[in-house]
Amino acid sequence: MAETFDVIVVGAGGSGLAAGYWAAEQGGRVLVLEKRPQPGGTTGIAVGSFTAAGTSLQRQAGVDDSPALHIEDAGNFPPQDIEARNADVMRAFFLHEAATTFEWLRGIGLSFVGPSPEPPNRNPRMHNVVPGAKAYIAALQLGLQRKGAVLLANATVERLLRDGDRVVGVQAVVDDATREFRATRGVILAAGDYANNRNMIAQHKGEQYREIEGINPFATGDGHTLAEQAGAKLVNMDVTYGPELRFVPSSKRPFQQWLPTSGIAARVLGAVATRLPNWVMRSLIKRLLVTWQHPENALFDDGAILLNRHGQRFVDEREHPDREIALAAQPGKIAYILLDGRLIERYSAWPHFISTAPDIAYAYVADYLRLRPDVTHRAKNLDEVARRVGLDSAAVRRSLQTYNDSLPERGDSRLPLEDGPWVLLGPAKAYFTTTEGGAVVNQQMQVLAADGSIIPGLYAVGQNGLAGMILWSHGLHIAWAMTSGRLAGVAVMNQTSSTK
Ligand SMILES: Cc1cc2nc3c(=O)[nH]c(=O)nc-3n(C[C@H](O)[C@H](O)[C@H](O)COP(=O)(O)OP(=O)(O)OC[C@H]3O[C@@H](n4cnc5c(N)ncnc54)[C@H](O)[C@@H]3O)c2cc1C
Repeated sequence: MAETFDVIVVGAGGSGLAAGYWAAEQGGRVLVLEKRPQPGGTTGIAVGSFTAAGTSLQRQAGVDDSPALHIEDAGNFPPQDIEARNADVMRAFFLHEAATTFEWLRGIGLSFVGPSPEPPNRNPRMHNVVPGAKAYIAALQLGLQRKGAVLLANATVERLLRDGDRVVGVQAVVDDATREFRATRGVILAAGDYANNRNMIAQHKGEQYREIEGINPFATGDGHTLAEQAGAKLVNMDVTYGPELRFVPSSKRPFQQWLPTSGIAARVLGAVATRLPNWVMRSLIKRLLVTWQHPENALFDDGAILLNRHGQRFVDEREHPDREIALAAQPGKIAYILLDGRLIERYSAWPHFISTAPDIAYAYVADYLRLRPDVTHRAKNLDEVARRVGLDSAAVRRSLQTYNDSLPERGDSRLPLEDGPWVLLGPAKAYFTTTEGGAVVNQQMQVLAADGSIIPGLYAVGQNGLAGMILWSHGLHIAWAMTSGRLAGVAVMNQTSSTK
């Protein structure tokens, strides 16, 4: 016998927990199914920025802003060809709703710092949750459970159950057993993106991208597959955030994850954080930067080179995305960035930084040496630095010689790499951060079929229900995950149930 709920949510990341919270808030019997042992998804490993206009924190900071201004600015982030494909009506609707979502999150105990500027936004609109994005998950999970919703981990949804056109439940594998769950009001897809689904990436973006991985290894596009099987129209499936070079994650738990994310300790931390001087906040955020932010392209324009595991160059480092495609084809899919003494000095102070969260914090060579010793190796001479990361020093010397000799021959304006000390940064890999394709949904987050009709009983939120929006800039993906979850949770409970 299938167990019956009003609402079933597929995925316990940011959007799924928000949807479950709001459906339970409306009095619904809610089941949230999560395939991993813990909730969190990509939301849980994010930096945590939330961008919105017209917020209480903006008013406190004396920033006079509105969703209407935000709508004008949001179109200036993506390049024109991408922006031409953006769903601007839906984006305007979302940006009008974002501040309400933000105030709800503050109301359930989350603390934010900011607003911080991020041009081309004309006003500071980026708010950062403290101590990090895990706080969203902790607060929502607690709220959801207090409202009586059921959260089942290790529960992978594999199929939607249908009754005619209507979606009436799911089939899931829970702790190795196949089970069915019925939903009288609706099923909400909140299963995240497909950055690590190689077949989807190859099919929609191109075969040459197949070997590039997603930062979140569990972002496998299950929700997109389920939506498609139900007849949903998926759009912008070829649009991705990345690929970009990023350092492999540290095996140590990042500093932020040691900080309390819920309970009294988290509230105290939140209250303290908002009063901390800017330099302290910057140093906290810097720790997040060196975990996931990508090394700037300027490094390569200035002459840094990439070496593979055999100490060989394999691409013109300035060519993007060829650089990422070539990197993914190297042994172990890894490479190291080589800097000489000139570059080390140059990338030690503003305006030359290795990575940044724009206008908030900047990480230089010394920050990497201190905060990411696992991916930063320094030595006085080339042979020594090569040995430290296990590269064949003779091969490294040969690669360098060939590179330096070739610069004048090719009329290349980059300066040769000549004198120590030397730094090797890496391993670095090519990663997709997230994907921008998703189901078309209406303003109640109901999934639409190719002919524009509603698929009864099916909703999609977060990266599953992007509705044609391409949310480039920092802080809009989380704002959408939380906003779409909130709206879906309310909407699904306002629909008539399929079985009384
Ligand atoms: C390193 C990094 C930093 C980022 N920083 C920011 C930031 O600061 N601000 C911002 O706005 N955006 C940021 N993003 C993007 C943003 O975090 C995500 O786009 C957003 O949080 C996605 O939320 P979601 O709910 O759609 O998906 P997720 O949070 O990924 O949740 C999906 C959940 O569904 C589960 N699931 C998947 N398939 C199934 C299945 N078949 N059955 C059951 N459960 C399933 C997953 O395990 C997961 O828990 C960042 C992304 C990365 C990778």
